[in-house]
Amino acid sequence: MAERPLGELLRHARQRLADAGIADAAFDSRLLVEHFSGTTRTDAISSPDRIVGQVAEIEAALDRRLAGEPVHRILGYRDFYGMRLSLSAETLEPRPDTETLVDAVLPFVRETAARDGICRILDLGTGTGAIALALVTQEPRAVATGVDVSDDALATAAANAGQLGVSARFSAKKSDWFSEIDGRHHLIVSNPPYISSSEIEDLQNEVRNFDPRRALDGGPDGLEPYRTIASGAARHLEKDGLVGLEIGRDQRRDVTEIFEQAGYHLLAQHKDLGGNDRVLVFRR
Ligand code: GLN
Repeated sequence: MAERPLGELLRHARQRLADAGIADAAFDSRLLVEHFSGTTRTDAISSPDRIVGQVAEIEAALDRRLAGEPVHRILGYRDFYGMRLSLSAETLEPRPDTETLVDAVLPFVRETAARDGICRILDLGTGTGAIALALVTQEPRAVATGVDVSDDALATAAANAGQLGVSARFSAKKSDWFSEIDGRHHLIVSNPPYISSSEIEDLQNEVRNFDPRRALDGGPDGLEPYRTIASGAARHLEKDGLVGLEIGRDQRRDVTEIFEQAGYHLLAQHKDLGGNDRVLVFRR
């Protein structure tokens, strides 16, 4: 059947996902049907009899969801900090937990911009550009360099910047951490890979099979990227600059120790919405 009324299609999609035990069947089916039919929530409520022609596309999307693919990978985007960000194979899907990092450093970005007329931000492992783009869209005097080792991620981040209209204040830079970075920044931010190599296999299937391993694997103890950042940041930070980091829920002590040994002190720490330690902010 190539055409079906919207209301019926929504019920059918929800049922297919629910029957397969998908936990968020109602939410996921609604996102997929709306996206692939070009309809909105309002259409579903006000015109359930509207005929949808994209039945085949919707069935294909439901098949992918039933095969375990996360709903946002199928959509090709995820919303983060009020922005719609495109995803690609080599970008981590931005998580709501990471918005905690944006909230934690945004006041500093605004204060710096007010004082100096600019705030230079370096985002290490930028992926979709999520953290850097949230900051430059929130503070019009902020400029950011988003660093990644993946060309695919850099292209995605640059496209997201274009979509948001902030290309003039965001540059995507290919670099292995600090290897190709010059100059000093007021703020270094990162959501680095922080899962220990041996724990990757224990992750939920949706994370393990669809988020890029390079964005997850933090080495034998999951802390290797923090050591790299701690040892390189001083050469790239302005005096009184900050380092803001996302961390794994059990890494607060270890990461704090790594930065204290490198001459930093812990300025602030924040929990995510689930109550887990998630963000640390250091000053030198
Ligand atoms: N928060 C991610 C997860 O466990 C991990 C992201 C990361 O390693 N930076 O799903």
